[in-house]
Formats: sequence, structure tokens, C-alpha cells
Amino acid sequence: MKEETYIHLLKYNQELMFVEYGFCDLYYKINNNKLFILKMDQQDHSINELVISYNTNLNTTSAILAYFLKEVFFKNLFFGEGEFIYEKSELFSEDYFSSIKSELNDAYRQKIKLIEDAAKNNDLINFCRAINLNPIPDGTQATNWIANCLKGNHHLLLSTITNQWGCPYCQKKGGLSELKEWHLIQKK
Ligand SMILES: [Zn+2]
Repeated sequence: MKEETYIHLLKYNQELMFVEYGFCDLYYKINNNKLFILKMDQQDHSINELVISYNTNLNTTSAILAYFLKEVFFKNLFFGEGEFIYEKSELFSEDYFSSIKSELNDAYRQKIKLIEDAAKNNDLINFCRAINLNPIPDGTQATNWIANCLKGNHHLLLSTITNQWGCPYCQKKGGLSELKEWHLIQKK
């Protein structure tokens, strides 16, 4: 079998906290039911390759690339963080890129809303909210939340299933009563 060469797939930028990172180019090739993605970072000039397995019922290149964009690109830290900005692609339009992005954002917001609704009677979450620790679902599992730590600029990890919290940074943990106690000490 002849070795396929890489084809340009997408040039994109990413914006995090209102700062644009700079351009990255992605190239792809398909070989033996694997999708190979080459990322060329125009900022630090690094080149990295990612190999992606996909379901073999995806039998056209466009179906494979659509799968890649939806299930891998927007969800994988390999490609960077923050908001992705379309710059150019010979294979799909900016409209298509934006529609996938907003579809995923809507799905994410819906998922977060369901998680928040399910935790609305959770005493640990409600206490965190009452003392302005801004608890939010961490977006991984429905029962995993994060909140600001009482001691400042890092996060508490919370579980709505065990009703326990912990701060790896402060090396403190416990349940609701321990958090209330710690909060009282902090206030003094
Ligand atoms: Zn802490």
C-alpha cells in the first residue's frame, strides 16, 4: 500500500481570556482505518501527530472528517484551549465549522443545566453558593463539581454523590460540617 501524504485540513486560531494564541495548521491522512492528524503550531513551531481510531462504518473521507471535527477537535486539549476561530479550510466552510461549534455549545449548556437542576437540593453545593464560592459542574461527570477555595485562587473539588469536598492545594477535606467549620475559622 502506498504511503499517503498529508493534506491540509484546517488553519485555526484560539482565543483564551481575550488573547489570541496564534495560528495552527492541521493536516490529515487516512491509512489502515486510522486518521492521522499533524498539528503544526505557528507560534512555537512544534509539530505533533495524533492518531485517531474511528468506527469503520464511517466510509467516506468527509464522514471521517466530520466525526473528527465534532468528536475530537472541539473536545481534545491536543488542539489547544479556549475559543476556536476558523481561519481557512479547503475542505469545509466557516459556516459548517460554526454550526458544529454552536451545536456542541448548546449540548454542553443543556448538560450543565440538567446537572445543576439535579443538585438543586444538595446542601454542600447550596452552602458553597451561599458563601459565594461559585460552585459549578466541572463538566466531566454529573456528580463532580468545583468551587473557589476559601483560601483564594484555586479550586475545591466537590462530589454530590459522596457529599465530600477536598482542596489538594490546602490539603483539606471533609463534608458539609467540616466546610462550615473551616469557613468560620477563616472569617475570624
Ligand atoms: Zn485551598
